[in-house]
Amino acid sequence: MLGSDEARAIHEQFPAIDLHADTLMWTRWLGYDLHARHTPPLPFAALGGHVDLPRMRDGGMGAQFFGLVSLPITHSARGSAAVVDAQIDALDEAILRRPGLRLVRTAAEVEACRAAGELGALLGIEGAHALEGSLDKLGHFARRGVRYLGILHFSANEAGAPAYGRGRDDAAGLTRWGHDLVHRCEAERVLVDLSHLNKRGFLDACAIATKPPIVSHTGVLGAFDHWRNIDDEQLRAVAGLGGCVGVIFCPRFVGGEGLGPVVKHMKHILDVVGEDVPALGSDWDGFIVPTRPLKDPTGLPLLTDALLEAGVSERVIGKILRGNVMRVLGEA
Ligand SMILES: [Zn+2]
Repeated sequence: MLGSDEARAIHEQFPAIDLHADTLMWTRWLGYDLHARHTPPLPFAALGGHVDLPRMRDGGMGAQFFGLVSLPITHSARGSAAVVDAQIDALDEAILRRPGLRLVRTAAEVEACRAAGELGALLGIEGAHALEGSLDKLGHFARRGVRYLGILHFSANEAGAPAYGRGRDDAAGLTRWGHDLVHRCEAERVLVDLSHLNKRGFLDACAIATKPPIVSHTGVLGAFDHWRNIDDEQLRAVAGLGGCVGVIFCPRFVGGEGLGPVVKHMKHILDVVGEDVPALGSDWDGFIVPTRPLKDPTGLPLLTDALLEAGVSERVIGKILRGNVMRVLGEA
């Protein structure tokens, strides 16, 4: 197992919760088994095969948010909801097949899961196109356990325009339907995820939100200049609502290989908006090549060591690993 004794003790006390991994996409496509330990060969390892239960345990994790991905191949999003349902089915099947994993929705359920010695699976949808224009579908997915909804992915949809991708329009804000969607999310106790949304839409959503939003996987512009990252104004908007921001582990977005760049993004968030905001947002299994030390969950204690070395206290690391996500879940 990786990491110092001190880091491992911190994970013991604060089992980590990561805000975004697209593993169920692989389970649905390839029958990827969450219960088995994988050592994916290159080049497959660059894209997926990152998360499984044995490696989550080795990495001192308590729970993982699984992103539910549907990539509209044409301009029509028809069929996207069924693709999301199929990924939830794949999780349900994995949970039924063997013990060790359970679907959790609330902070209390995450704690109960920990007490039972199991790992928690939380669900989030990536992109509101998956609702196929129907707010009622959000209720359906909430009943199946979905706890966050990413408003955008890589294509413009009924709610707004992406920070990058098809239909990019930096002047476009949140649409009327997007406004309704934010309100509906809050009514259904589904967290609003602002990842991939363009800045205007992002700030529009924050202006009408009354519950804490999240940014499940992102970098920050103050640490590295990239279209995928959010600026300090966006950080302050999320922080002002009591939300949290998961730092992505992709070298392309954080500005280089190794733990240093990831720590730099965490530190920037701490400096600008304080200790209640940063969280983990790996994007494992999401067609990204993670930075080598964090190529899978087993590397998380190494990140904890790097944060300690950078002068971040154990107490604050506990918030980054777990506390901030638990608070936001509790407030939804
Ligand atoms: Zn994403």
